[in-house]
Amino acid sequence: MTAAPQRYASRVSIVGEDTPVARALPHRERRLVGAWCFLDHAGPVQFAPGAGMHVGAHPHIGLQTFTWLIEGEVVHRDSLGNEQVIRPGQVNLMTAGRGIAHTEDSLHEGARLHAAQLWIALPRGEHAREPAFQNHPELPRLPVGGFTATVLAGSAWGQASPATIYTPLVGIDLSAAGAAHAEVPLQADFEYAALVLRGSAQVAGEALSPGEWLYFAPGRTVLGVQCDGEAQLLLLGGMPFGEDILVWWNFVARTQAEMEQALADWNAQPNTGGRFGTVRAGTLAAPLKAPSLEGVHLRAGG
Ligand code: MN
Repeated sequence: MTAAPQRYASRVSIVGEDTPVARALPHRERRLVGAWCFLDHAGPVQFAPGAGMHVGAHPHIGLQTFTWLIEGEVVHRDSLGNEQVIRPGQVNLMTAGRGIAHTEDSLHEGARLHAAQLWIALPRGEHAREPAFQNHPELPRLPVGGFTATVLAGSAWGQASPATIYTPLVGIDLSAAGAAHAEVPLQADFEYAALVLRGSAQVAGEALSPGEWLYFAPGRTVLGVQCDGEAQLLLLGGMPFGEDILVWWNFVARTQAEMEQALADWNAQPNTGGRFGTVRAGTLAAPLKAPSLEGVHLRAGG
């Protein structure tokens, strides 16, 4: 007997003038799936002439940012000195550890953008490691029941993603140009989330469209995924994280004091050296200011 999946709605907001962003994680009732602790589905959007995405310098701690790009081209710059254009079909993985700052800018104005922006919580013992950045232009791809499966993180069908991760987890993209039906092998000790990025699909027999997602508790060994036409899905999984963490602004921390220190450190030197360093080249937007935690009591979630 496997538990029935739980259905959650993403919170949709409009960023800038016209970019829809659907936030699946964290959800009030479901803050983590494995170590995946943040999932924004951005776009698809066609920017107006002269417009694009420009996110000013901002810091991260205690997590990895994981960008899966579907359409568009985005320039990543960070305080380690990395400058990298990410293109469709690629993953950018930034390990924040003890602290890093970065910017994200559309390479061209007036272009399309469609992406999944994810965070992975770092486990205790790795949460304050040295920051690092990787671009992964080549990921394992294989045909599965009419889908093209791309192994974004972890392993599936015996194929391993090159992305460096610190807890047992998996991320899979399933894309189909027409009708397709795959039986996706699962790890029984993982929990999973399924989200549609394009089109619509049936997952474990449940209809699914963009803006909502399904949660599957551990205990399953296979997941039926089916679509009747062009569709794209994201399947995330992982060992239940098992640690209480705080997620606030751009940080993952264990204690309110750790969180307050990171906010103060950034606001004292926003992109001007110090703990988070400086993103030097070509940023088009001003550094972001960290919000105050005054009067806020963060609730731990595991
Ligand atoms: Mn960021």
